[in-house]
Amino acid sequence: MGIARLAAAGKLLESAGADALLILGMTNIRYLTGFSGSDGALMLCREGSWFLCDSRYTTQAGEEVSGCRVVEYRVKVDAIANLAAEQGWQRICFDAEQVSVDLHLRLSAAMEKTRLLPLGGELDNLRSAKSAAEIEAIEKSCFLASAALEELLPTIRPGVEERALALELEILMKRAGAEEKAFDFIVASGGRGALPHGRPTGKRILPGELVTIDFGARLHGYHSDETVTLAVVSADRRQREIYAVVREAHDRAIASAKPGVGCREIDAIARDFIASRGFGEYFGHGLGHGVGLEIHEKPTLSPRSEQVLAEGMVVTIEPGIYIPGWGGVRIEDTVAITADGCRLLTRASKELIFVG
Ligand code: ZN
Ligand code: ZN
Repeated sequence: MGIARLAAAGKLLESAGADALLILGMTNIRYLTGFSGSDGALMLCREGSWFLCDSRYTTQAGEEVSGCRVVEYRVKVDAIANLAAEQGWQRICFDAEQVSVDLHLRLSAAMEKTRLLPLGGELDNLRSAKSAAEIEAIEKSCFLASAALEELLPTIRPGVEERALALELEILMKRAGAEEKAFDFIVASGGRGALPHGRPTGKRILPGELVTIDFGARLHGYHSDETVTLAVVSADRRQREIYAVVREAHDRAIASAKPGVGCREIDAIARDFIASRGFGEYFGHGLGHGVGLEIHEKPTLSPRSEQVLAEGMVVTIEPGIYIPGWGGVRIEDTVAITADGCRLLTRASKELIFVG
C-alpha cells in the first residue's frame, strides 16, 4: 500500500498528458492510500499526493493513510480547486465512472481555467493483479463463507423458506467474523432457479427441487463469491444431466485458467462446451469476474473481454444453465491465478450435494 501503488497510479498521468490525477472513488482511494472511510478525495501529481477529507475523518486518515499529506476541508470541491490553483495544475484527469454530472459541473465551475480529462478504467486495472497479502485476505473471506455454508447444509430441509436460508447463512457468516455479507445472497429454488439473480422469497423449498445459493463474505474489505446448486432429497435424470454439463464446463475452465490466456478464451471454453451439449441458448451471462475490494471488478471473463489473465488475478468461474419453466444450475468458485495455473480459494464441494 502507499508509495508503490501511488507511484503506479502516477504513471497514468503520462499517458493522459495531465498534471494531476483526481480520484474520488472510495475503493481506489482505499487501495492507494489505506483509507477505509466513506468520503474524501485523493489528488496526486509527479511530486506528491494529498488526501483530502472533512473533519469526521481527519483522525482516521491520520492513522490509516500512508504516502500522502492529509488536508482537512469544509467543502470538498473548494478544497480540490484550491489545491489545483496552488499547484498551478492546468490539466487534471479524473476517474470518470465515479463522478456524477452534477459533481463534474461543480468542479468545472470551481476550476474555470483547468481542463478536466476523464479517465476510463485505467485506475481500476491497477487493482486486477493482487499482492500476496490481498490474496490471503480474499482466501480468508472465502474460507469463512464456505465454512458457513457447510454449517448451513444439515439444516436445509423441505418446507424451509428461501429467505430463511439466506438469513441463516448471513447470521452464520457474521458469527464467524465476517464484517458484512459480500452482496445480497441469491437463493432460488425449483422453477425460480431459472432467474440467474433470483432474490430469496417466501417460497418454500420442496423435495425434488434444485436450489441455487450464491453467497459470499466480506472480511477486511475483501470479498468472496461462491455458488452451489443443491438437490433437495432427490434429483431426476434431467437435473443430474444439466448439473453434470455445468460442472464439466466449470472444471474445464478452471483447468485452463493460467497467465497469458485471454479472458475471452476462458469464457469460450465453458461456453462452447455448454453449447456442444445443446444448452448454449441458456447460458446468457459472462463466465466470471474479478473479485477484491469490490465484489465485481476487473478483469471480466466474457465473450467481449479484451483482458488477459495474469498471475495474482482473482476471478470467479461461474457457468450456468437457466431454462425458463424448468429451473437452473450455477456452479461458482473464486480462484487465484498462479504462475502456471490457478488455485481454488472457495471450498464448498462442487459435487451434486443432496440435502433434506
Ligand atoms: Zn456469485
Ligand atoms: Zn460472481
